[in-house]
Amino acid sequence: MLLKDADAASIAVHAPYRLVDLNRGNTLLWGDKLEETRVSFHGGELIFGKERFRAAGVKVISRRDGSVELDGTRYRGEISLVARPANRLRAVDRLNVEEYVQGVLGSEMPDYWDKEALMAQAICIRTYVLYRKVKRKELNALHLAYRGITDENWRLNKIVGETRGIVMFYDDKIFPAYFHSTCGGHTEDAAHVFGDKSIAPLSGVECGFCDRSKYYKWKADIKKADLEDKLRERYPGLERTSTIVAENPGPGGHNSTVRIKHAGGDLKMGANEFRLLVGPNTIFSTAFSAKDEGSVIRFTGSGWGHGVGMCQYGAQKMAEEGYQWSQILRHYYPAVEFVKVYR
Ligand SMILES: [Zn+2]
Repeated sequence: MLLKDADAASIAVHAPYRLVDLNRGNTLLWGDKLEETRVSFHGGELIFGKERFRAAGVKVISRRDGSVELDGTRYRGEISLVARPANRLRAVDRLNVEEYVQGVLGSEMPDYWDKEALMAQAICIRTYVLYRKVKRKELNALHLAYRGITDENWRLNKIVGETRGIVMFYDDKIFPAYFHSTCGGHTEDAAHVFGDKSIAPLSGVECGFCDRSKYYKWKADIKKADLEDKLRERYPGLERTSTIVAENPGPGGHNSTVRIKHAGGDLKMGANEFRLLVGPNTIFSTAFSAKDEGSVIRFTGSGWGHGVGMCQYGAQKMAEEGYQWSQILRHYYPAVEFVKVYR
């Protein structure tokens, strides 16, 4: 889904286009190009620039190699606009999995990285996307960095094409092939981070390839007063913090809980919640320890991201050392099989 509960959206097409009623299938409007047009729904009508149509849903289709622009971002193929709920606008893009993988690859990994690393990444993305489809879970920008065709380029699209239809299976089933920037030495068990069932490909492995990442080991000194300000939005009773203890690490060193000792007692919260409240770009992962340094707490940690599945910096180093995409993926997701699910 691209937009939810919006008042209105702007649509443009820089190629021949058609506007089709989603329920009846008839064409409402067509032309050689569509200048930026404001679209909204009101009282059972679609307000499309200066035109009005009796329609609760439409799709905007561009010529086969064209794209549709929604609020300034270009997407491949077509976009559906529906009045759901009434008088509000929801925008959904209809594109196939391969186009989606093309759109995501360039925002998940630098486009100049080694081909085998990019191929491995494309297969992770496809596996993850198909898993969500099979489970009928909606994909949105929170799950993968999808920005339409903004991040596509010729080299990446060719790499995606070479892996077309290939996904990973474990125990004859597709699974959520999580990935992250830098594991910091050992990847993490998905059960530990997300509470998923523990399965062989997601239970954590020794990485040994990501020590060039600048997030491999990191340090952050944070003033106690600043920490308290950030945490107090959710935990108002917090005052005069003495120290912070990170607890219950998984096999990859990612902690699951954090205990904050303060004047009012002990405050316990999830390590991930703590990381998000303090700032995910300050505390790069939940694999850290904390030391009381008077007015500041010194955090010493490793890795960037949740640590589950493929470590991207590790994958790139493996590719540079001559490993192929299948070896990279089998290293990070042990016991998987590769299946081409369509031609
Ligand atoms: Zn790693």
